[in-house]
Amino acid sequence: MTDISNHLAHYINGKRVASTSGRAQDVFNPATGAVSARVALASVDEVNQAVEVAKIAGAAWAETAPLRRARVMFKFKELIEKHQDELAATITREHGKVFSDAKGEVTRGLEIVEFACGIPQLLKTQFTDNIGGGIDNWNLRQPLGVTAGITPFNFPFMVPMWMAPLAIACGNSFILKPSERDPSCSLMIADMLQQAGLPDGVFNVVQGDKVAVDALLQHPDVRAISFVGSTPIAEYIYSEGSRRGKRVQALGGAKNHLVVMPDANLEQAVDALIGAAYGSAGERCMAISVAVAVGDVADRLVEALVPRVQALVIKNGMEADAEMGPVVTSAHKAKIEGYIAAGVAEGAQLLVDGRGLTVPGFENGFFLGGSLFDHVTPEMVIHKEEIFGPVLCIVRVPDFEAAVKVINEHEFGNGVSLFTSDGGTAREFSRRIQVGMVGINVPIPVPMAWHSFGGWKRSLFGDQHAYGEEGVRFYTHYKSIMQRWPDSIAKGAQFTMPVAITTPAKS
Ligand code: NAD
Repeated sequence: MTDISNHLAHYINGKRVASTSGRAQDVFNPATGAVSARVALASVDEVNQAVEVAKIAGAAWAETAPLRRARVMFKFKELIEKHQDELAATITREHGKVFSDAKGEVTRGLEIVEFACGIPQLLKTQFTDNIGGGIDNWNLRQPLGVTAGITPFNFPFMVPMWMAPLAIACGNSFILKPSERDPSCSLMIADMLQQAGLPDGVFNVVQGDKVAVDALLQHPDVRAISFVGSTPIAEYIYSEGSRRGKRVQALGGAKNHLVVMPDANLEQAVDALIGAAYGSAGERCMAISVAVAVGDVADRLVEALVPRVQALVIKNGMEADAEMGPVVTSAHKAKIEGYIAAGVAEGAQLLVDGRGLTVPGFENGFFLGGSLFDHVTPEMVIHKEEIFGPVLCIVRVPDFEAAVKVINEHEFGNGVSLFTSDGGTAREFSRRIQVGMVGINVPIPVPMAWHSFGGWKRSLFGDQHAYGEEGVRFYTHYKSIMQRWPDSIAKGAQFTMPVAITTPAKS
């Protein structure tokens, strides 16, 4: 008998179902290092079954009035609010981030649900009365059918919320393939949507790995795929999905810079760097991993940062005063340690070394202290690649032009920030920087639910950003309708291109 409380499997057609694939892997509590559950890894047959169910349920759901779909979202919102602490504790248990940060994640996900509650207004389209000859022209935004989302480990609640609420509110069915490293939130989302009144089969979860992802990519009935994760996989999903005619938005990795100008408020810049580099142990796609120190601010910046990095409170994320928890797995911890060693070997100056940290009572947890490198150059691996851990690199540049160049030449273009007290510098920076999301005196410029999220360059493959109005466009087909009723149709075939005005205005 499968112990479903400890063995996490799929959610198909309105209920939790055990897996038949015979494949599973461990889920860890990163703070203790202990196995907290087993998660199933779906077979191709299981994915196909979910698509079949989603296709049938989706057909009826597409005919459901947007106002009724919105009412499900309103109830879903209430349930998220009610279960916020439980969701956050689940995130902390499987991801490791501190509880207050996990609650923040739930709030940012909730905001997309609130946006989706406005779907009748968002789907309202344009109408032109009488383009000529008794003809009216208007457009529709219609659902695509079965849509799928493949999500990363670092936001197990928020990133699925970037996708599912809008996909569903737009009249699609949705299959979520969450990260196998922290799968529990996906099942809580499914339970809440069902309690909110969503018909069975409109939202489904398949747990799994590459096998499940490839089955979704190959299935002809999956019309659109939203992906968030690392750049190599984002590029793979984009090329494999789009060559099969699917709509794909694939958000990838990042290396986000924060520029500190000599006229910046240093105290604010340091606070921003500490929170944005070490919050969630640096495992955020909008984490700041590079401080670009302009001109003579560098020495003052370093002097202020070192004691702050050394003083980070690193503990089990459920403890009230914890500022940073463990990283997600022991393999990821080893990868980050490898980058720190590479930085030292390349000649960067390691001012604070976070390796070798032990947290009393949690000796087997996947903990790392904060690390700080100075004199990092743009060519070094620790600047070029995404470390995705609590490691901040300082790149020193002589002036504003050099700062812009370092950022614009980087492979990634997800988020960026500038700290300055000069409005002209801020304006120049915002206009010239080749990055999708810009903060001025704001460390993590994650756009609000109605402003859409996405990077440039190799941080996003596809044409549309996530959520907001871009999300509504992504999850709907645009259709133009031109209509004339028979009693206004002029007799005789017309062989010229139809034009709007058929009779000249009288002078
Ligand atoms: P990941 O790419 O390893 O995994 C993401 C998803 O892809 C998971 O569901 C995983 O099961 C699946 N996957 C992994 N390998 C696969 C393969 N070979 N074939 C098919 N599917 C595969 O990413 P992760 O480690 O879970 O998350 C961290 C990454 O996500 C970082 O690079 C981070 O920058 C990025 N991220 C980006 C954003 C953004 O908005 N741009 C947001 C959050 C995270």
